[in-house]
Amino acid sequence: MTTTPTVAGRLVAFMADEIFPRHLEMQAFIENNKPGTRPKFLATLQEKARQQGLWNLGLPELPDNAPGTRLTNTEFAPIAETLGQIHWAAEVFNCQAPDLPNMEMLVKVGTAAQKERWLYPMLDGKIKSGFAMTEPNVASSDALNIACKITEDGDDFVLNGHKWFAGNVGLDCWQFIIVIGKSDPQAEPHARHSAIIVPVASNGLEVVRHVPVLGFQHRAKPHGEIRLNNVRVPRENLLGERGKGFAAAQVRLATARIHHCMRSIGGAELMISLMVERARARKAFGKKLSEHDKIREFIALSRVEVDQARLLTLAAAEALDAKGSKGARREISMIKLAVASACYNVADRAVQVFGAMGLTNDSPVADYFAQMRALRIYDGPDEVHVHSIARHEFKRQQEREGAPLLRLLCRDLSLQ
Ligand SMILES: Cc1cc2nc3c(=O)[nH]c(=O)nc-3n(C[C@H](O)[C@H](O)[C@H](O)COP(=O)(O)OP(=O)(O)OC[C@H]3O[C@@H](n4cnc5c(N)ncnc54)[C@H](O)[C@@H]3O)c2cc1C
Repeated sequence: MTTTPTVAGRLVAFMADEIFPRHLEMQAFIENNKPGTRPKFLATLQEKARQQGLWNLGLPELPDNAPGTRLTNTEFAPIAETLGQIHWAAEVFNCQAPDLPNMEMLVKVGTAAQKERWLYPMLDGKIKSGFAMTEPNVASSDALNIACKITEDGDDFVLNGHKWFAGNVGLDCWQFIIVIGKSDPQAEPHARHSAIIVPVASNGLEVVRHVPVLGFQHRAKPHGEIRLNNVRVPRENLLGERGKGFAAAQVRLATARIHHCMRSIGGAELMISLMVERARARKAFGKKLSEHDKIREFIALSRVEVDQARLLTLAAAEALDAKGSKGARREISMIKLAVASACYNVADRAVQVFGAMGLTNDSPVADYFAQMRALRIYDGPDEVHVHSIARHEFKRQQEREGAPLLRLLCRDLSLQ
């Protein structure tokens, strides 16, 4: 039995009745208040969403007593698309990054005590978390470079490192960070790193600054630069197995990529609708923008690219449900590359159609453009996914049974 139509239908109605009408109010609040602060109506909306069973929508496996819909990735994907139309919507339903993938990680590899201490309060929407893998001083797209040191001292782990782009930094309810660091430098390269839960209140954890994305201050609060200076945590804060930090991170990355991709597709749909409305409403050189061939081409290409991206992403979500994060690696890399490129193209066209307004905060266009430019870098830059897809393809062809196709289907000119 699937609950998707009911949840999806209720969500669409909630977005129309409660979220879209408040978007301009939220934007004004963000612009006039310190980064990261939230208007009071957000808590009211969260409570309303919860009462309607629209809470923790993106976690397929949950402990029996935990609140949530338990939708599969395939079922959640279209819901993530709906959420992605408005950048703050996911928070209303407790489905926002990086908390959602961190919850997934705790569900899958957390101990009973870790679930009690960190997971349940997150499922309740009471606390927030960060994920800190990237380091400013090394090329972090190659995870083997991660240098943050994790050493042992008595019953504790001691962490020393420098991270940036850790999520939710400085928010009131920001309580812990999952830090990836090097615990076993002598082990073989893929067994050197571990994931550690670091409480924000730990001595030695220093917030250096918030980092705006392409200058957008309202995106600054979640993205922080931090230093870990002899931060001491008990051994039971090891998340997953020692030396298997990458495997543990992979659990969250696979689902995070599906969610990011579907949310981005939701944003792209919104951009197409906005482009169409704007093109119909404005005239230049004697006719409406919508009658200029170039603008029509923008709309048509956007439609084709977005629909292609969606089909690929839904297939990847099915692969993830069927084969798990390891089995679905190729599909996940493919969507990360294809969706980031498709949505970036749509965002660029939307900026063009909106003219000067597309470069301001007076419409959602510029913000979406910044997000889509960033998507081509976070969760793995385009080039890394290209490399990974090509590797899979060469391996697949090598494993193909039967005579080489070159010999069967091509003339051997060397014999003539
Ligand atoms: C909005 C946003 C949110 C983020 N959120 C988080 C978060 O929550 N937690 C976290 O830990 N990090 C986060 N990050 C960081 C992000 O994951 C990293 O920026 C990303 O992994 C790339 O690492 P890097 O910046 O060190 O780039 P580098 O590794 O220095 O790579 C720079 C460039 O080198 C090129 N390159 C790299 N590898 C190859 C290759 N194999 N072939 C060809 N070219 C290559 C690519 O062009 C790449 O863009 C976030 C970043 C952004 C922008």
